[in-house]
Amino acid sequence: MCHSNGYPRNPGIFEIVKKTKVLCILIKQSEYSDSSLILRCLSREHGLIGVIAKGIRKQTEKHQLSNLCEYELGLYEPKEAGLWLLYDEDLVKDYSRFPTPATWAAAECGIEMISQMIVPADEHLRLYELTISYLDYLQGVSTNAVLIFWRLFLRLLRFSGVGSPLDECCLCHQSLSNYTIIDQQHWGFVCRQCVQDMQNLEHLLYLSPLSAGILRLMPEIGKHLNDLRPGKQEISEINNLLEKYWDMHHKQTLRLKSLSVLSQFYH
Ligand SMILES: [Zn+2]
Repeated sequence: MCHSNGYPRNPGIFEIVKKTKVLCILIKQSEYSDSSLILRCLSREHGLIGVIAKGIRKQTEKHQLSNLCEYELGLYEPKEAGLWLLYDEDLVKDYSRFPTPATWAAAECGIEMISQMIVPADEHLRLYELTISYLDYLQGVSTNAVLIFWRLFLRLLRFSGVGSPLDECCLCHQSLSNYTIIDQQHWGFVCRQCVQDMQNLEHLLYLSPLSAGILRLMPEIGKHLNDLRPGKQEISEINNLLEKYWDMHHKQTLRLKSLSVLSQFYH
């Protein structure tokens, strides 16, 4: 659909050079001036982009956009880093409807995390495909969506190049047979042999048997959504492990505002 009104024929001040079609997922919309919106989008080819939709709030309802939908946007590309300008949009697929509020919260949380990823240009496509597969999978998840969020978290850790706490013992680098004991100096698991050889045990943290069981099942967690019952303790333990591992390996703090919303569904 092409807009006949509300969009400047000559973009002028935006220093725009060319028109292009961009496949993207709409992440966030913020009001801008009386009638416009700034759209934050994860695009297939360009990663995260900001788009100005001029006059869109005065358009009819069918021109309004929804978060977590995939669109093909017609855009004027900015000359340098800056806002793109919307001239046309087509809905490709609606990923915004979920079976339960908890599943929606898991989607929001995943998108918030994805939107904080710093990704080189040659990885934009891979991150986009990971995002689409996450939203698509959640459409069919009515129980324990947090487990799918944790699977995404582990995938994003690997994607960002720091591996996963499940890969190996953080001290001797042997593979692990269980995920029970964490060394809080490294925020990684330690194997039983390393624990036996330790002089000082004060940095060790023991996870609940259910947390350890959930982590062991992570490679095939999609098959176990209905037979696990993570509660407050598991939510707190696994979120804490993943966040601390992220912070330690990226040397900066991950802040996910929507994680507390997601966590409220499990008690
Ligand atoms: Zn070890």
